[in-house]
Amino acid sequence: MLADMQNGPLLVSHLLEHAARVYPQQRIISRTVQGERHEYTYQQAHQRSKQLAMALQDLGVRRGDVVATLAWNTYRHFECWYGISGMGAILHTINPRLFAEQLSYIVNHAADSYIITDLTFVPLLEALAPQLKTVKGYIVMCAADEMPGAKLPNMLCYETLLAAQSGDYNWPEFEENSACSLCYTSGTTGNPKGVLYSHRSSVLHSFAVCARSGMGLDASETVLPIVPMFHANAWGLVYACAMAGCRIVLPGPHLDGASICSLINDEQVDFTAAVPTVWSMLLAYMESSGKRIDCLQSVIIGGSAVPAAMIESFEQKYGVEVWQAWGMTELSPLGSINKPLRGQRDLPYAEQLAIKVKQGRAVFGVEMKIVGPDNRALPHDGKAFGRLMVRGPWVVERYFRATEPATDCDGWFDTGDVATIDALGNMQITDRSKDVIKSGGEWISSIDLENAAVGHTDIREAAVIGMYHPKWDERPLLIVVLREPQKPFNKASLQAYLETKVAKWWLPDAIEVVTEIPHTATGKINKVALREQFAERVKGGQLIT
Ligand code: ADP
Repeated sequence: MLADMQNGPLLVSHLLEHAARVYPQQRIISRTVQGERHEYTYQQAHQRSKQLAMALQDLGVRRGDVVATLAWNTYRHFECWYGISGMGAILHTINPRLFAEQLSYIVNHAADSYIITDLTFVPLLEALAPQLKTVKGYIVMCAADEMPGAKLPNMLCYETLLAAQSGDYNWPEFEENSACSLCYTSGTTGNPKGVLYSHRSSVLHSFAVCARSGMGLDASETVLPIVPMFHANAWGLVYACAMAGCRIVLPGPHLDGASICSLINDEQVDFTAAVPTVWSMLLAYMESSGKRIDCLQSVIIGGSAVPAAMIESFEQKYGVEVWQAWGMTELSPLGSINKPLRGQRDLPYAEQLAIKVKQGRAVFGVEMKIVGPDNRALPHDGKAFGRLMVRGPWVVERYFRATEPATDCDGWFDTGDVATIDALGNMQITDRSKDVIKSGGEWISSIDLENAAVGHTDIREAAVIGMYHPKWDERPLLIVVLREPQKPFNKASLQAYLETKVAKWWLPDAIEVVTEIPHTATGKINKVALREQFAERVKGGQLIT
């Protein structure tokens, strides 16, 4: 028997409509690309998003067409998120940090009809435009008098387009499984792969982000999404903040330590989210300047493993609680979050830290298991490690335009991560399956070794890759960046320190000091580039595949 309840579609336009109706005066504050402070209300954001939808309609954009953005986190980008998806078109958020060939590949693969861009990226688009086959025009997010002198084909002014529209518009209602947005993984190997989200998956994901067991958002809070809107959907915050009615602060292009520190203080931010590289810059800045961030209550860190030393600095020095989260573009992206259980805050801090370095418990909506080489599920004992598999209503089923599904016949998606799950349900990533070091048939976790190395006072950043060994196949090579490069550094002292932190057979066979470790477009350590840089050692004259 079917139930008697109403059955309206879950659409992302409802989120902003709700925020404008229920929290009309709540503010959205931005640092613009021009460096100014901009402030307006949800009501105004809603109105302008509708003006954008009307402008796109006049340009000939129809339901199912793809409209891309190449932009920082600002109020105009926020309007694009709602205006484009709300009218039934597909929002494609492009990561400007990708290589030129990757950018033209994804624009052509997505068949973008228009690209809405910040002024910053106009020169980049000028170089790419001849290769972008499907793009009918470029909309520059600025006022008429700020339009660049560039020669982009059919270059339009965002503010002029909006000014011509009344905003008297009703969001269309349609099937909730319609495509809403498109995001490509950064593709450290091979071409980037697209994940096409639905309105339904995005709204369900927002409930999980808002929940107390997720990021726990509510309207009393000021939220600063530093994670870019072009990286894994800004971890769901653009939708979830509107759902919860939070005051939002959008940081614009400046994500260095000094800019973030003053933004947090100037706007009295309670909660924020970003990858570890952003937090390294902030912590280094606060250390050298003596500045603090006393208003900040909690921070989400994810995207890469969070070193214990980083958690400890935030919590013990600055009084900011750290919640580690794990996710992927393929998961919209939230998969798990590490929030303390009852009594955990009363444990000795070293014990709390041992829990906090884990990636946390799955949120409702994401089912998780770890499997061995025979695809059998492994026990949740915190020791057995295997491939991490997930499934759920906001997990990818098939990559965009792929013919084969991305899941097995039971709907499980292989994350490419290797993990343990402990008896309390906490998942811990030990490695990407491609990065794990296979030494004499045993696995060494590059993440654990990196985490241990950055606990040493002289080390700012560490990366571990496998290098060829004639007897053991692979042994760890530790590559480090020093906190103070001019100070003498003793490799033996680092090795002795590591001996107290990891099993003896995990100790690196070699340590290399570099001035910089390369990062991917989403701020992760670029191990492909490191393997190329240290190719002779990695391959040892023979190819390791
Ligand atoms: P991209 O693949 O484009 O860099 P994603 O954000 O989709 O971007 O990357 C997802 C991957 O990032 C995960 O599969 C995992 O390897 C890594 N990751 C995300 N969060 C964490 C975390 N908290 N700890 C360790 N690794 C993480």
